[in-house]
Amino acid sequence: MRIGIPRALLYYQYYPVWKTFFEQLGAEVVVSPPTTQTMLAEGSARVVADTCLPVKVFLGHVISLVDRCDYLFVPAIRSIQYKVYNCSKFLGLPDMTRAVVPEAPPILEIEIDINKGKRVLYQAIYRLGRHLNWNPLKVRQAGLAAWQAHLDYRELMSSQGLTPPEAIARIADIPETEQKLPSHEPAANRATIALVGHPYLVYDEYINHRVMRRLKQGGNEILAPEMLPTDKLESAVASLGGRAYWTYEEEVVGAGGHYLQNGTDGVIGIMAFGCGPDSLLMDVLHRQAARLRSTPFMCLTLEEHTAEAGVITRLEAFTDMIYRRKRRQAEVCV
Ligand code: SF4
Repeated sequence: MRIGIPRALLYYQYYPVWKTFFEQLGAEVVVSPPTTQTMLAEGSARVVADTCLPVKVFLGHVISLVDRCDYLFVPAIRSIQYKVYNCSKFLGLPDMTRAVVPEAPPILEIEIDINKGKRVLYQAIYRLGRHLNWNPLKVRQAGLAAWQAHLDYRELMSSQGLTPPEAIARIADIPETEQKLPSHEPAANRATIALVGHPYLVYDEYINHRVMRRLKQGGNEILAPEMLPTDKLESAVASLGGRAYWTYEEEVVGAGGHYLQNGTDGVIGIMAFGCGPDSLLMDVLHRQAARLRSTPFMCLTLEEHTAEAGVITRLEAFTDMIYRRKRRQAEVCV
């Protein structure tokens, strides 16, 4: 049985978990290819215009998998922490997918809501696994192996400073395509820049116009939310806004708050146009950057009409400003 997983939305956080779970139960996992213009156009054509960009991209990936798998896996992840919630788009994702892509293969779904207790969670995992194997012990073993794969994945990223695509490539034993070339730029023309935001915006090179790759090619060192351990993310969230309400506060406010205060030369926040949670969370970072006045902060807002030239111009202006600042600081020290 082939199970399709769209390379979008929560793929970057949970792909190793899902892959391990399904493979342990004897299925083959098929992942959609990286985002293309056609996928985005096809996804956008199925929904109303003000749907956020990541959801349109997700639907484009679903359409690309239609003839390539027997089942499609679309989870509804409501909450993975007590009283901390995902955005409403994630809650209805299986229903929305069914409604707007009627030609999609049958959908395997699971609802994850930690607030309903462990018993309900285990029952949901068993209901999902039952599609592949009736033996509850086998499903339990697959669940435990999947959880261990998740812990190993998080540990790999935070201990070795890897991004999700790098960690996934390493787990799958795919040789790295991006070579780390030595930079010939003088030190004042290189910077340590943190990119914060949802993984589906930061790591989807088509929709963000290769922000991370461009910065790396300029000789800059890039930091990402996944490179921080959970305790640091949580303490940054607590110090900036108290108790978290949204699941992604860690990847936006937590990572951004930490990097603004801890030795980076600049922080770039990436958000989607029309995203309710992000408009609040990025504002928290804006205010913190203005309060600290020590680390430059820029917010890049993406939508399907965002032009590559516009992104390049903003990146160049931001990095030039950082390099100028570094040169001035170096002169003061001399
Ligand atoms: S958090 Fe924002 S970008 Fe992500 S799915 Fe929800 S509305 Fe879209």
